Amino acid sequence: MNRWEFGQIEVFRVVEQERPLLNPEVLYPTSTPGGWAAHEGWLKPEFLDPVSGDLVMSIHSFVIRTPRHTILVDACGGNDKARPGKPRYHMNRFPYLERLAAAGVTPDAVDYVVFTHLHVDHVGWSTTLSDGRWVPTFPRAKYLIPRIEWEFWREEYSRPGFTDDPYYEDSLLPVLDAGQVVFVETDHVIEEAVRLESLAGHTPGHVGIRITGGGREGIMCGDLMHHPIQCAEPEWNSCFCVDPARAAATRRTFLARYADTDTLVMTAHFRTPGVGRIAASGGAWRFVFDEGDGGNRRG
Ligand SMILES: [Zn+2]
Repeated sequence: MNRWEFGQIEVFRVVEQERPLLNPEVLYPTSTPGGWAAHEGWLKPEFLDPVSGDLVMSIHSFVIRTPRHTILVDACGGNDKARPGKPRYHMNRFPYLERLAAAGVTPDAVDYVVFTHLHVDHVGWSTTLSDGRWVPTFPRAKYLIPRIEWEFWREEYSRPGFTDDPYYEDSLLPVLDAGQVVFVETDHVIEEAVRLESLAGHTPGHVGIRITGGGREGIMCGDLMHHPIQCAEPEWNSCFCVDPARAAATRRTFLARYADTDTLVMTAHFRTPGVGRIAASGGAWRFVFDEGDGGNRRG
């Protein structure tokens, strides 16, 4: 398990699934064969599986453990969820909670669940099936949802034909009904060292989570980018971006801001270790992975 330290704060990455997951031209509709060919040398086989032709991606959570709080960021796809429109999330049985427990995080220990945004692959473990009912997985937790994100999806979801997958009903409404949702602004401060900030574009209420401590800084950037190719080709939006122009502008600003700095960029879908730094490269950028700080706390 990869982990990073920010002074007294520890961050763990907990993987739900990691494999060749999505077809490149489907995920990036404006990409071109020539565009992919230019990067083939570094993409295969690590980031682009030569057998299936699919992009190697990860779906994972981060756990932020501060002296005061245990915070889960993003909740993957979940188990037992009917997702006929998206087979990769359909009726899965992942040992995700077992992996969390192995990191010392029982459901009871989680104080906050934070979503970078409300897509299906970020909200699944909000709830688990118990006696045929969807109940909050983390019984003590407050689930923090940016108000603007909630309002967008509540309206979007009511439109016919949006999706057949009932993730709003099985992963969000039960938590709301249990009184565990707290609507927040996109600049919400969880505690001094852990703050939300807007990274809108992929979705209207898409947020990053900034962590500072021990002279280090990290930023969890959600789906600002799905794959390292977007450092090299920052104009390529995913097919899931709600506002493509804004998504690309936010990505470019982000990459320029952190290029050649020591800030750890903690992504939602890059393969293991999922975290790294941005380096300027030939007029664009590249992602330099960081394996983390090992199994023992530094002195
Ligand atoms: Zn995602």
